[in-house]
Amino acid sequence: MKLSVLSFACAAALAISGLASAETVTRGMAEAGMSPDRGNHGDAANKDPNELNGDHVKYAGRPGSRQNDPIAYHNGPILHGPKVYYIWYGNWTGNTATTILTNFVQNLGGSAYFNINTTYYDIVGSTKTFYNNILTYGGSTNTSSSTYGTSLSDSQIQSVVSDAIASASLPKDTNAVYLVLTSADVTASSGFCTQYCGWHTHGTISGSDIKYGFVGNADRCPSSCAAQSASSPNNNIGADGMASVIAHEIEETVTDPDLNGWYNGNWENGDKCAWTFGTESTASNGSKYNVTLGGSQYLIQQNWIAPAGGCAMHL
Ligand SMILES: [Zn+2]
Repeated sequence: MKLSVLSFACAAALAISGLASAETVTRGMAEAGMSPDRGNHGDAANKDPNELNGDHVKYAGRPGSRQNDPIAYHNGPILHGPKVYYIWYGNWTGNTATTILTNFVQNLGGSAYFNINTTYYDIVGSTKTFYNNILTYGGSTNTSSSTYGTSLSDSQIQSVVSDAIASASLPKDTNAVYLVLTSADVTASSGFCTQYCGWHTHGTISGSDIKYGFVGNADRCPSSCAAQSASSPNNNIGADGMASVIAHEIEETVTDPDLNGWYNGNWENGDKCAWTFGTESTASNGSKYNVTLGGSQYLIQQNWIAPAGGCAMHL
């Protein structure tokens, strides 16, 4: 059931959007509709039943949900000035990813790239408030793979977040996104590398509405989840692949944290621009990059300018 729906969604998206670039075709079905995530992942209870599991990506290509249509506001909140917390799951010892991706998130907020999200707002009561391009790194914790093993179910990923909060390894923060980052020896059993590279959702944890997501190490499947697999700007194929997916999930969580904010049909902002990079430059090792953050180069996907401004790297 799930696979057949995904197959349909991917094929339909390719046909309707006309974005079946050689790169996309090469990546094949691994991205499930050209997006590295599952959008409204695992959120059946909170959405229109016509949206199975509330998953935007699965329904890509259905009538009224074209990738390039304007993105629409659905009256829910966005996040204003949120924090990002990392949970490093598995064995990251000796991996430069922890440095590369910490630098990345520490410099994402306030950047010209992230400024695109200031085209998004929410309306609470009669007050309309635009996003302010503030995003703060709140810190990280580590979870051994001995906790839940090396193949995580969706519910176990939520448990990883719940455990970190319950143990006070990380604070409980409803204005934040918690990202579970898994090492290359770990997979996510609902489809990492075959159906998505990452996803975000929200759930009730310790009695509060917590926004969280998953991003797996692209080293596990660089042909599916890394933009470039021969070399990369920071000499770490997996981490450099993850940077783009992390950007995708954070910008979606900011603008659609409870899955009732900004999207059109099946597409959140990150989905609409997944695997498009705009103008690329060549790094000293021959790899490609399109942004410099905190002194390091990254190749990250573009983001959608609301409501109909298209994909870009800055306003
Ligand atoms: Zn997405």
